Amino acid sequence: MSENCIFCKIAKKEISSHKIYEDEVVFAFEDINPKAPIHIIIIPKKHIVSLCDVSCKEEQILGHIQIVASKISKQFKEMKNGFRIINNCGVDAGQTVFHIHYHLLGGRVFE
Ligand code: AMP
Ligand code: ZN
Repeated sequence: MSENCIFCKIAKKEISSHKIYEDEVVFAFEDINPKAPIHIIIIPKKHIVSLCDVSCKEEQILGHIQIVASKISKQFKEMKNGFRIINNCGVDAGQTVFHIHYHLLGGRVFE
């Protein structure tokens, strides 16, 4: 938990969100400003700043996030033909929340 981190607070339910999935390692919730019919944010419960800032000790967490993305996609008929995962790493990539997160997007065709 990092103080004043909005995603830590969401994972600890100190800030409300529309939860999609939770286990011991990750928390997933609807994006407040969706860019697709389905737009879900997947975060590790552990506070990691960004993909620019990881090491091999995060390997299991980061791998788990991809398995969870696939598992969540199966809950939505809109993603039966595919989905997109995005990670914005760092300011130049448009990262605005500095707790690593993956956007799971679906329900439309992406260019
Ligand atoms: P990024 O620009 O990659 O850092 O993405 C941050 C994402 O978090 C954006 O798509 C925001 O819409 C989303 N977001 C920020 N605050 C909240 C919140 N309280 N609940 C849900 N999504 C949020
Ligand atoms: Zn955090």
